Amino acid sequence: MTDSTNTGGDVRLSGISKTYGSFTAVHPLDLTIPQGSFFALLGASGCGKTTTLRMIAGLEEPTTGTVHLGDKDVTDLPPHKRPVNTVFQSYALFPHLNIYENVAFGLRRRGITSVRKQVGDMLDLVQLGEKAGHKPHQLSGGQQQRVAVARALINHPQVLLLDEPLGALDLKLRRQMQLELKRIQTEVGITFVHVTHDQEEAMTMADTVAVMNGGRVEQLGAPADLYENPRTTFVANFLGTSNLIEAEVLEAASDLTVTAGGGTLRLPADRCGADTRTGGKLLVGIRPEKITLAHADDAGAIPDGRNRVTGRIVDTSFIGVSTQYVVDSPAGTALQVYEQNVERDSRLAPGAEVVLHWNPAHTFGLDAAQAID
Ligand code: ATP
Repeated sequence: MTDSTNTGGDVRLSGISKTYGSFTAVHPLDLTIPQGSFFALLGASGCGKTTTLRMIAGLEEPTTGTVHLGDKDVTDLPPHKRPVNTVFQSYALFPHLNIYENVAFGLRRRGITSVRKQVGDMLDLVQLGEKAGHKPHQLSGGQQQRVAVARALINHPQVLLLDEPLGALDLKLRRQMQLELKRIQTEVGITFVHVTHDQEEAMTMADTVAVMNGGRVEQLGAPADLYENPRTTFVANFLGTSNLIEAEVLEAASDLTVTAGGGTLRLPADRCGADTRTGGKLLVGIRPEKITLAHADDAGAIPDGRNRVTGRIVDTSFIGVSTQYVVDSPAGTALQVYEQNVERDSRLAPGAEVVLHWNPAHTFGLDAAQAID
């Protein structure tokens, strides 16, 4: 289904910004979105992700900077002159037209009369061939959104922009549609730029995620890299639960040794977005599922070389796939631990004295001067 004419190149934003009066919605931003990638702009409400998307679409005029599609500067082109199309949260289908005519609309508007093959292919792509004669209101929300995607793709844009397209769907349908959109993107092979506030959605679908905060991109990377190696407390907390422990560098080397919670911990210096000089203050982070719990009586069996923190369990809950513990520790913060496949009889109860231990390689370090959100 990949169209060989869709080789438009990367989307390149250079120094692009947007101010409304004295308020800056997007600070000057340089961003390259590789051709053919599934790219997510992720962030909380108001962080500037929709404004950024709208500047790519031509729906919003940048205050500074340029937008290039491949070699072409499209900054001054109106939306309909850009090889770009947008899918919105409100499907914006024509209610009086059936599904076939909704999808055919873009072709007919361009004066193309022989549309049967293209519309048929597009309906097959979104797996709605048998719904061609239905009206939009006869379809579920997820199906209507698939029609909106088909309608947006029919004119072979170079880039498809998706503005919270799954926001109106319930959770289960959202999950299905995430996989469905990912499949469609792989099949058509064009660039998708997807705006969402849902970190799980961005991580599920995108090859590259830009995490935005306060009109800036805080970190850009593959989902696993962002999750495992966040460079700021905002990214660490936005992408999941972080255990952040105040620490001070005791010994600076390629492996840092830091004092924390009355003991010492180790972490790789290259996983540290903070001051790594001796005496430097930092926050040491570890994801809850990377930690293993041992009863204090069994601490002797913990292999050498692991990071260790002692504590006492204050809460134990069973959440379907995992058992989640909250542990009070001298590290000064309640630590969260998620363990999988814990037999009911082996679950540690509140009050149990424990040792938390983990592989130092999974530890990350953050700038202590940043607020913990
Ligand atoms: P949401 O998910 O809520 O849409 P967002 O991250 O997409 O959030 P934007 O819609 O890009 O955020 O808005 C960024 C900021 O710019 C917000 O504070 C918003 O109130 C402000 N803003 C957006 N459009 C305008 C406008 N036309 N005039 C004034 N302020 C605006």
